Amino acid sequence: MIKRLFLIFHILLLLLLTATAQNNQSSRSDVRFSQIMPVADHHQHLFSPAYAALQSPGFKTVTAQDLIGFLDKAGIRRAVLLSTAYRWGRPGAEPPDEYAGVKAENDWTAAQAALFPKRLIAFCGFNPLKEYALEELARCAKDRNLRRGIKMHFGNSDAQMEVPEHFEKLKQVFQAANKQRMAIVVHMRASISKKRPYGPEQARLFLELLSLAPNIPVQIAHMASSGPGFVDPPAHSVIEVLADAVAKKDPRTRNLWFDVASNAHPENPAEASELLVKLIRRIGFKRILYGTDGAAGNNLSPRESWEAFTKTGLTEKEIKTIAKNIAPYMR
Ligand SMILES: [Zn+2]
Repeated sequence: MIKRLFLIFHILLLLLLTATAQNNQSSRSDVRFSQIMPVADHHQHLFSPAYAALQSPGFKTVTAQDLIGFLDKAGIRRAVLLSTAYRWGRPGAEPPDEYAGVKAENDWTAAQAALFPKRLIAFCGFNPLKEYALEELARCAKDRNLRRGIKMHFGNSDAQMEVPEHFEKLKQVFQAANKQRMAIVVHMRASISKKRPYGPEQARLFLELLSLAPNIPVQIAHMASSGPGFVDPPAHSVIEVLADAVAKKDPRTRNLWFDVASNAHPENPAEASELLVKLIRRIGFKRILYGTDGAAGNNLSPRESWEAFTKTGLTEKEIKTIAKNIAPYMR
């Protein structure tokens, strides 16, 4: 009897020890997360009721108050709200009173950011190919809540750098932003749905645009891809050229930054994560900015997205540096 009791006691003790060991392990990896938090989310969007109405039925609005909740859950203090006003100028899907809608959306985003002045800033958005592009840039430059920078979305606006008329307009916008000292965040990935060309030629044209904006930070969104995920071979060929330019200290890349918004994703195949890490190292992790992307579609929350990013295979030191990186327009 005593022998049997002793055996049961032994088994229980073993079970207890295993459970404690497992607990310790999981709390250790949690600690790794909870201690390293990005200081800022460099790629966020709000979705106004007007924007939601332009999207599919049931599209959810996201206000500054909602976003603050997401950021708090991730322990992220600050964010830049990239206005999605370019949506009003989407070719073939422009609503009536297009430019009035662009202005209203930019102003709404600015007013939302102003509700949390210590935590949020707003960037002005528009389709750079539209006749009102420079007018809107100048209007935003005069607005204290929109003057820090502009956001362009080459995919949504169907801007094609290899088309001379498009390139001419883009040059004007880059020059104007530089003159006004407004930073640029650009989703440079050409339209996927329209199957626009996107490769080394587009990367070289983009470097030419950079030469027109030497005095402002330029942030390439989604590592030159679109996200979510990082399975995009044409974009890989673009970022290879840009990473080489950075590595060779091409003077045009002096103020160039890259955000990783939605690139790290649990559904990425292992090769995609490896490539992402390789590119981050080639570019240099001091130029990499953490970003999440808006709470729509397949996108993760800031907390989930940062967690996915910490699992890509970067070292703790690299993750810590990236977490602390802050774009000049946020300082
Ligand atoms: Zn975005």
